Order: sequence, then structure tokens, then C-alpha cells
Amino acid sequence: MTQGTQLETELRYVKGIGPAFAVRLQKLGLKTVKDLLWHFPSRYEDFSNIANIVDLIPGEPATIQGVIQEIKILRSFRKKMFIIQATVADATGSVRATWFNQKFLVAMLKKGMVINLAGKVSDGKAGIGFSHPSYEIVGFSEDDEQFIENAADYREEIEACKHTGRLVPMYPETKGVTSKGLRFLIKPLLDAIDRVPETLPASMLERAAVMDINDALRGIHFPETMEDVTRARRRIAFEDIFYLQLVNMLERLRLAKENAYACEMEEEKFSELLKQLPFELTEAQAQVMREIMNDIARPHPMNRLLQGDVGSGKTIVAVLSAIIIAEAGKQASFMAPTEILATQHYHTFKKIFGNFEKGVALLTASGARVFFGEGLESEMKKADVIKKLATGEIKIAIGTHALIQKGVTFDELGLVVIDEQHRFGVKQRQALAGHKKGNGEYLPHFLSMSATPIPRTLSLTLFGDLDVSIIEELPKGRKAIMTKIVPPASRTDAYAFIRGQVKKGRQIFVICPRIEKNEDEDGKGKNWFAAETKTVKEEYDKLSKKIFPDMRVEMLHGKLKPAEKAEVMQRMKKGTIDVLVATSVIEVGVDIPNATIMMIEGAERFGLAQLYQFKGRVGRGEHQSFCLLFTDSSSQPTKDRLEALVHARNGFELAEKDLALRGPGEFMGQSQTGLPDLAMRSLHDIKLVKSARGAAEGVLKIDPELKQHAQLKGIVARFHDKVHLE
Ligand code: ADP
Ligand code: MG
Repeated sequence: MTQGTQLETELRYVKGIGPAFAVRLQKLGLKTVKDLLWHFPSRYEDFSNIANIVDLIPGEPATIQGVIQEIKILRSFRKKMFIIQATVADATGSVRATWFNQKFLVAMLKKGMVINLAGKVSDGKAGIGFSHPSYEIVGFSEDDEQFIENAADYREEIEACKHTGRLVPMYPETKGVTSKGLRFLIKPLLDAIDRVPETLPASMLERAAVMDINDALRGIHFPETMEDVTRARRRIAFEDIFYLQLVNMLERLRLAKENAYACEMEEEKFSELLKQLPFELTEAQAQVMREIMNDIARPHPMNRLLQGDVGSGKTIVAVLSAIIIAEAGKQASFMAPTEILATQHYHTFKKIFGNFEKGVALLTASGARVFFGEGLESEMKKADVIKKLATGEIKIAIGTHALIQKGVTFDELGLVVIDEQHRFGVKQRQALAGHKKGNGEYLPHFLSMSATPIPRTLSLTLFGDLDVSIIEELPKGRKAIMTKIVPPASRTDAYAFIRGQVKKGRQIFVICPRIEKNEDEDGKGKNWFAAETKTVKEEYDKLSKKIFPDMRVEMLHGKLKPAEKAEVMQRMKKGTIDVLVATSVIEVGVDIPNATIMMIEGAERFGLAQLYQFKGRVGRGEHQSFCLLFTDSSSQPTKDRLEALVHARNGFELAEKDLALRGPGEFMGQSQTGLPDLAMRSLHDIKLVKSARGAAEGVLKIDPELKQHAQLKGIVARFHDKVHLE
């Protein structure tokens, strides 16, 4: 190893990494030595517990040790794939191991070698075996002399398998970068670096009972036991959670110092406003309104997250808030993730507050409209709408991403609302929240809304910079949606039931999952869009031609233009479609009270939160509604998950359950939080989260501007960008 290897050293300058390999590592996001050392195993293969081949059970993970009897390469012409097949035997029997597209294995693994294989036991036509197992070369069988002369060639390999102990780390891989390759790299690097600088004060580590970073890195890459792994992971997660909390607390302190327009509405005037509603606010809605009115009456920006179950009536809260701002002479911008939704909000506004005269615009990619009160509604050129927003002539803008495009400015922006905030990237949220343009000294108040209920423990950590409001109660008179799991045997009955509902004049949604194709690791996800559309078309053909040929069946998918989608939704709303086959584009807040059945194909392929969103598309009107979960899967975890959906009384209850079943990592997904996987997965560890929060509070109490913590300040700045800007 080259002298002077530093954490910042780029990997392409590290001995043993050629330019081509460096490029491949970059594909994994690994550029520097630090990136590589912080590239953690996603799991560990336990080679310590070696099973007899005769005892292997299909479907179970296992490790065996045996001698390679035969290894050959086959070619599947149809699929253009190389198949490498090895037969491995121990004293009790033999199994076949299969790898795809890994030609180099034939040069590596030879007849007569003793190897370990680890992986899930599969059950194929040719009997039980391993598909894509991990392997390590342990030595050579005694009765095979062929290796003696070139034993040196294999020494490194055999040594490598020793330094991993019996617990072998498996890394997230990409084409041409195997776990084994990564282990070869990381081990000498860790030795060469010797000591990674510790960024957390020793006193903090002690108080939180977490280890030094150096021990953690060794523990996570080269553990002796799973206990080592757990402790190492805990330390690394602690650090990330600590920084996240620190960033959030600093953000909160920063906002408290910023100016915002204080907008107030008199009690009486507000009551007048409420009288125009076709319903009474629920107690929960009223409570949230009080919280918001309290916030926006202050001269500092509100930063509030409104969580409420699907159908709990968040829109009206946003609309009322926008009106209060407009009546105070300032402007409000209300952004939704899709054109369908933005248009729906605009129409809701117009319908309820038909006499609002201060100007409401709808601005989307496909056009613009404005509304200035009774009878004063018309299409308008986008450029003109944009002008009127800039001069303040229009007080409320409802729209899509079009609202944050270059050139859109406001005269005095007092409020920004984001609907379905989880559908936006952090960057877009930032673009809106940081809208200082034209405001001089003033930041807008900020309200983000989400229908994904997040358990309190999580939201405190993830959104520590926000105040959280919750609407847990649904408007009165809603009937609970009956949810049923439909196994293949009951499919015909389910279709008959759907037919009956349509006869009664009701409408049906059918949601199809994206079918994941078996792509090579590089091409992951590339084609999902096309695949999703294809499934919808197939389902549409089936339903419209075979199952319900007498009904009006239509489809909605991501390949349609926004205007086409809007038209389909309009027809659905008008009731000229009986059955609408759709992809998850339907997911977001669409409101069609006459739809009473949500039928979901391949329900097991969706996350619980998403299924819950689908379910919330029905049950919005006076009729009893149903959610039918079609699934071919009979696995227990799937059943447990779907059962949770059947029984959950509200979204928060379900979220807690989902969190328990899947853990926070799966539950939230990294893209949404900016928090590294490992930290995400540790968020259910309340003790850890609390001690990280305590540590962050401790630091800020003594040194609120991090003046004495220069190093921390630098790290926090980088972390902030990652969490808030990506
Ligand atoms: P979400 O919180 O999912 O965005 P919406 O705002 O779309 O929910 O509201 C769902 C439906 O409930 C709408 O049709 C809306 O008019 C209606 N609604 C909202 N608040 C009330 C209420 N307090 N009483 C009765 N109906 C309500
Ligand atoms: Mg909504």
C-alpha cells in the first residue's frame, strides 16, 4: 500500500485499483478511500456453521463445504446468457451450484478444489442446489495433485478467506465489483490508514456508550461475531442520527430568526368563511387551523408538517390558510405533485369559495386559468398569469412544479403549501421553502402535507426541524372500507361482485403493479416504466375483452400525456367510466366519491403505505366501499402484511405496524430522508435516537453557533446539504 493514503485519497490512486476498476467503483458511488471504508456490508454470510449436503432444506439458507467434482460452462442462446455449473460433493451427497454470466468463475474454480458455498437452497428440476451462491476457496482435496505446482496462484485467495473470519461480509454489488473484490481492497486500506480521525468528542462516545469509529469500521467490515456487527452498526448509526438532529435543531434556530409576514384574520371574519363550507370542520381540522393561524400570525416563518390520513380533509385546511394569507394582502402558493391533483384543488376552491375575488390561478405544464370571483373565470396565457403573480395582482397560485420554474416570482409571498410532500424531492421542497425572491427580507410560512402517517418516534427524528400537526379523525359519516384478501380461488366471485356494483351505478379502480423483469444488475429499474405500462395494457385487454366486455373500461398509465390523464380522470369523475385500470399514478389524492371498489392486482408487490393510499381512493362518498387485495402469494410475511391492512383502523396504527414488520429503512426509503440506510434501520432503536438527540442538544446548549466546534460545523454543513438539497 502506498504511503500516505488518506481518507480523501481518490480510489484511482490506490495501489491495486486500475482505471477501469475505479470507474466501476464509481458506479457504486465510491470515489475516495473514505467512500469505500463507509461502504458497508448489507449482510453477512455465516461460514461457521457447515451443513451436510444430505441435510439441506429447500428455501433455507445454508453453508456447505465440499470438493468440486465438475465445473462447466453452458450457453443459453435464447437468453444470451452464460451458465456456469459446478457439482460439489461432501461425504453425504452432492449438489449443483449455478451462476449466470460469471465466466471468470471457470478460470477460478477448478475440479478438485475444496470450497465453501453459502446461499439459499433452491429446488430445481435437477434436484436441490444453489443459485448464485457465495463461495470461498478453502484449499485442495488431498487426492488431487494438479494444484501443487501452481498453488501460489491461489494462496492470496485462500488467505483472503481466512482474514474474514467465519463471518463473511456481503456488500451491495454492481457488475464487475464483487463482495470478494471489495474485501480484498478494504482490508489493506484499513491497515494502511491505521487510524481514522474520530469526529465525535470522547466524552460523547462515553456517555452514549458507543465505540470509537476505528473499532466500528473494523467491526463492520471484519467482524468475529454478529455481536460485533450490531455494536459497530450502532455506533455508525449514532453518528448519522446525531448529525441529522443537529442539522434539524440548527435549522429550527435559524428559522426562528428569519422574518415572515404576520397574517391575522379576525375571529368573526373566519367564522364567515367557515359558513361557506358545505360541511362543518371536524374537531381535528379545527384544531389544526388554530395551530396554523397561531403560527402565521407571528412574524417568523411557520414550518409545519400536516399529517392526516387519506380523506381526512387536508385540502380545505390548506385552502383556508391560503385565504387568510390573501385577505391579509399577501400571496400563497399551493403546489401539488400532479396535474390531476392541482386541477382538482383549483376546482374545489372555485366550488366552495365562488365569491373569492382576489385572484386564484391554476398553473401547470399544460396551461393556466384564473378565477376572480363569480362568473369571472377564464383561460389565460401562462406568461400573463406569471406577470400577475409577480405584481401581486393574483393572490393565490395553485399548480404543479410549474410553480417553481424559473421566471415564476411573487410580489409578497406569505405562504407555501406542498401537498403530498413525500412525492417531491427534497430539492423541490427547498426551492419552495427558500423562496425569498421578491420578498426582500421575508421568508414565506411553510405548510407541507402528507397522507403517509409517520409514527411519532420517526417524525421527531426525521423532521425535527418541523412542527407536526396531525388529523387523526375522518369526517363524520364515512363508512369504514371493507377490505378483503382475494386468493386465486375466489377470483371469479370477486368479478361477479364487481359486476353487481357496476350494475348499481358504482365505479371501480383496478391497480396493477409493475412487474419486475429479471434484468442484469446494471440495468436495474431502467425499464420499469415500460413494464408497468405493459401490465396495465394487458390487464386492460383482459378486463375489457374477456371479463367485462359489456362495461366501459378505460386505462390510465404514466405514458399518457398530462392532458390525456386529466381527461380520463374527468370522465371518471363524471361517471362515464365504469372500470378504470391504472398504475400507481392513481395513488395521489384523487377524489371520486362514486367509486366504491378499489381492486389491487398483485397486492403483495406494494408497500403497506402505498396500499393504504390506494384504499383511501374509495370510501369517500355515501356508499359502502370495498378494497379487494388480489394476491397469488401464500407466504406468511405477505399474509401478515396484508392482514395488517385489513385490520388497521387508521393510518397511524398501520404505520406503526408497518414499521414493526419492515423496519424504518424499508418503511421510509432513503430517497425521502437523505439519511443513510444504516441510520434509517436504527431509527426504531429509541434509546439510540434519544441519546443522539441528547448529545445534539448538549452541544447546542453550550455552543449554539458551533463556534467552538469547527470540525462539527464543517460536517454539519455537508450533512445539511445532503439532507436538504439532494
Ligand atoms: P385528503 O386529506 O386525503 O387530502 P381531501 O382534502 O381530499 O382529503 O378530502 C376528502 C373529502 O372529504 C373531500 O371530498 C372533502 O370535500 C371532504 N371533507 C373534507 N373535510 C370534511 C368535513 N369536515 N366534513 C365532511 N367532508 C369533508
Ligand atoms: Mg389530499
